[in-house]
Amino acid sequence: MKKDCCWEGWIRTKNGVKLCDCAIEKRKDKIGSRFKNCNLETLDLRSSQKEAKAIKTNPEDSYFLTGNFGTGKTHILVCQYDYLLKLYRLPVAKFFREVDLVNDWQDWDNGRYYTVDEFRQQKVKHLFLDDLGRSKPTERVQQEMYGLIDWIYTAEIGLTISSNFGYEELTNIYGGAIVRRIRDICQEIKI
Ligand SMILES: [Zn+2]
Repeated sequence: MKKDCCWEGWIRTKNGVKLCDCAIEKRKDKIGSRFKNCNLETLDLRSSQKEAKAIKTNPEDSYFLTGNFGTGKTHILVCQYDYLLKLYRLPVAKFFREVDLVNDWQDWDNGRYYTVDEFRQQKVKHLFLDDLGRSKPTERVQQEMYGLIDWIYTAEIGLTISSNFGYEELTNIYGGAIVRRIRDICQEIKI
């Protein structure tokens, strides 16, 4: 990537600054180098992924992708993430692996602790949670996750989740209140 495209990922515009394409590539690369070329427009869905066509049609909506390991859920999430980063041109779309978020919540002293207040200040518009249900959350983490999902619901923030589990199994991991909120927010996509 050429270095003179921006200043540390930012391009000056009439109304402020916007994210450069190279910074968007960097964000995807951080999730995993195999996701570097994820692009919603060129995303070719396999027949087992046909329900995910809804994301291509309405890429600003909220989705819950559920299916077995290796069905391409994260790839589809990163495609939507890439689309929204380019649409908003500001880092108001946030991508988290559930385990990273939960590890930070469980490591109160040394972790990077994300609060709803922080997301609100950053004017976050869409949050991605990859691989929900992977961790074994403590009661405190369940409360934090509920606070986050409930804020997304009331503030009408976009939310896209991937999980190897369905709603019933997630209820056992996170409790019914969180799962009810997710069902209120997201369209379910089985792949
Ligand atoms: Zn650049």
